[in-house]
Amino acid sequence: MINIHEIYQSIQGESTLAGVPCTFIRLAGCPLRCTYCDTLQAIPFDSGSAMGMDDVLTQVAIWESPLVLVTGGEPLVQKNCLLLLQKLLDTGVTVQLETSGALSIKSVPVAVRKIMDIKTPGSGEEQRNHWQNIQHLHAHDEIKFVLKDQLDYEWCRQIIHERLKDTSATILLSPCWGQLNAEDLCAWILQDKLPVRMQLQMHKVIWGAEKTGV
Ligand code: SF4
Repeated sequence: MINIHEIYQSIQGESTLAGVPCTFIRLAGCPLRCTYCDTLQAIPFDSGSAMGMDDVLTQVAIWESPLVLVTGGEPLVQKNCLLLLQKLLDTGVTVQLETSGALSIKSVPVAVRKIMDIKTPGSGEEQRNHWQNIQHLHAHDEIKFVLKDQLDYEWCRQIIHERLKDTSATILLSPCWGQLNAEDLCAWILQDKLPVRMQLQMHKVIWGAEKTGV
């Protein structure tokens, strides 16, 4: 069994696969409290319903999406998340996992394309970063920073130079929605020649920031 907040189909709004039709599996529960969290509804551990693995797979199969994203909350809090990831891979789809970076990703199947946050000071959860995770990232994985202000950007730039200089994963910088001007972030990246990819949350551009289940 696994505790599911919601399952729905949309367009992947972030990552290097932004724009691809995608089925979202949102697991319930998160131990973090990021200041900018946009999925507050999925933070409580009782915000979901227990579902059997086969029922989850049956529901996912209805949409026939080439891409399935497991997200949260923090999906890795639930130990059956690893089993779900493997079962999804076994169906032949591309599987992405969004994780806060606060829990170990060591046991996540290698074929899963991980999108791992590094929490900045502005998130209020910087102390949760599980730095050993960096060594478990591969070329198809992605590291995401959500930046609230210039201080966050400068902290992130230092982390890239000091801790991420040898990573083969793609580094994504996202301006925090409504808080950091995307134009400013573009200018800083270009000025510093940072080896990153800037991204917007495409789903918020399309449907607005408040809409859920898209
Ligand atoms: S890790 Fe994600 S779900 Fe949890 S509080 Fe932070 S932004 Fe929200």
